[in-house]
Amino acid sequence: MNREPEVLSKTKFDLAVIGGGVNGSAILLPIYAGDPDSPLKIRLGLTLYDLFGGLGKKDRHRMLSVSDAVRRVPRLKREGLRKAAVYYDSLTDDARLTLEYALDAAARGAVVVNYTEVRALDVSTSQVTGGASALGPGAQGYGPGGAPEVVRAEAVDKLSGKSQEISARFWVNATGPWVDHLRALLPGYDGSKTVRLTKGTHIILPSLSGPYAILAPIPSDGRVFVLMPWHRCSLLGTTDTDYDGDPATVRPEPADVEYLIAAVNRVLARPVEAGEVVGAFAGLRALAVEPGRPGEGSPSPSENTREYRFHEDPWAGNFISVCGGKITTARSLGESLVARIAPRLGIALRGPSSRHEVLPGGQTGPFEVYVDYASWEAVRMFKVPIEIAERIVRTYGSRWREILEPVRDDASLAEVLPGTPSLLAAEVEFAIRSEMAVSVEDFLLRRSGLGWLSRWKLRGAVPRVAEIFASRLGWSAERRIAEADSFARSTA
Ligand SMILES: Cc1cc2nc3c(=O)[nH]c(=O)nc-3n(C[C@H](O)[C@H](O)[C@H](O)COP(=O)(O)OP(=O)(O)OC[C@H]3O[C@@H](n4cnc5c(N)ncnc54)[C@H](O)[C@@H]3O)c2cc1C
Repeated sequence: MNREPEVLSKTKFDLAVIGGGVNGSAILLPIYAGDPDSPLKIRLGLTLYDLFGGLGKKDRHRMLSVSDAVRRVPRLKREGLRKAAVYYDSLTDDARLTLEYALDAAARGAVVVNYTEVRALDVSTSQVTGGASALGPGAQGYGPGGAPEVVRAEAVDKLSGKSQEISARFWVNATGPWVDHLRALLPGYDGSKTVRLTKGTHIILPSLSGPYAILAPIPSDGRVFVLMPWHRCSLLGTTDTDYDGDPATVRPEPADVEYLIAAVNRVLARPVEAGEVVGAFAGLRALAVEPGRPGEGSPSPSENTREYRFHEDPWAGNFISVCGGKITTARSLGESLVARIAPRLGIALRGPSSRHEVLPGGQTGPFEVYVDYASWEAVRMFKVPIEIAERIVRTYGSRWREILEPVRDDASLAEVLPGTPSLLAAEVEFAIRSEMAVSVEDFLLRRSGLGWLSRWKLRGAVPRVAEIFASRLGWSAERRIAEADSFARSTA
């Protein structure tokens, strides 16, 4: 996968998408006196979950006695505990999953460009005046008399600062929290909102529950928190509060951290203190505004629908905005979107649904069995320590050989990056070669799989990572310094 900005101006695309950015975990659900749901109700709910999930016998939920629950998670508060349940759910690395979609799209012929921002949209009114449709011969505009159509976007390559034009027959606005910012570029935009932004903060704590995730209610507001095992720490989330600032500057606030600590302390025998927080980060959910419920009658953030919606504006006939959605529904969203757009581009869809298509690193079969086998294979073939081999297999799945193969010719690539527990120089090289990484941050925060961990811990690796980028991409000494400064700023 390469950045191919020069292709942008030379091609007229059928479809331009702007934006777009598992394995199991045992979840322990403690049930305390005064909780909203009784053990019986939880048991019924989890039985339905097992049935609808089609889970095999060993993956079904189990109810635990108080002693059994406390034996599994010793930090759990015993006082008031009535029972607990254990059930299983999936866990994913969101940055890597999203990257795998982009890699797959590129492998199937899409032109994928990062660091490219659409700043203006050119609309043709030719249809309204009876001229040719931007959709080409035979394709009609939408709405009575045909609507104006977007014919061109002006985009800026944020790395070089150069502007370029992109033309396409149809446009998908998949810019998440920025969806209404992009709609605002359309002449005729009426100021309406299609998404509601809510902030979700996570905090990282020293490990509190070993291999178990804990899910428990927050009685003060009727929500739940989840505490997840994550790279030998615990990840605790999340908040859900309305946000109306600049999406690019969302940050965790002290009140978010206090809220999460209070929530988890309700179930802990020894409370967590603010000083134990290792790190915190925040993101924005772009929730679809429910038609008929905007403004005064809005539900609370957590009651707002998590379903996705496609929105079309009458002043842009070939432009669809994707509002809402989740990582878990991304594939079904993509499929519905394609089904909706294809006929309008005159494309007949072939074959069955793509839901069984496997992403590039996903050729593993049963994952844990694969990790076990492939990790030892990596040790045998490339003489890397088992813990490094296992992390590489877990991160890159069936593509692990592509990362390690160059080590045969260049032993320096087998070196662990200073300041990191187990990242190899070979991974930086791979990210540049095959995963479109163009900056130190790209690698450390968005490719390595450790970006979530605690960013300050990765700072020691910056000089060596910058050195590898410099040798592959011809960076100057100034660029290396600028990269280090930029990493320090974004992880402050
Ligand atoms: C705290 C939190 C917890 C969550 N938990 C879960 C969960 O447990 N399960 C789940 O399934 N989902 C979860 N989600 C939701 C999930 O993260 C989102 O649904 C998903 O990230 C949305 O992806 P997207 O591609 O629509 O938007 P984004 O990931 O926001 O991507 C939009 C992209 O558009 C780009 N962009 C913006 N403007 C422009 C422009 N002018 N030109 C070009 N590009 C532009 C941005 O740079 C960005 O890369 C959670 C979200 C949050 C915040």
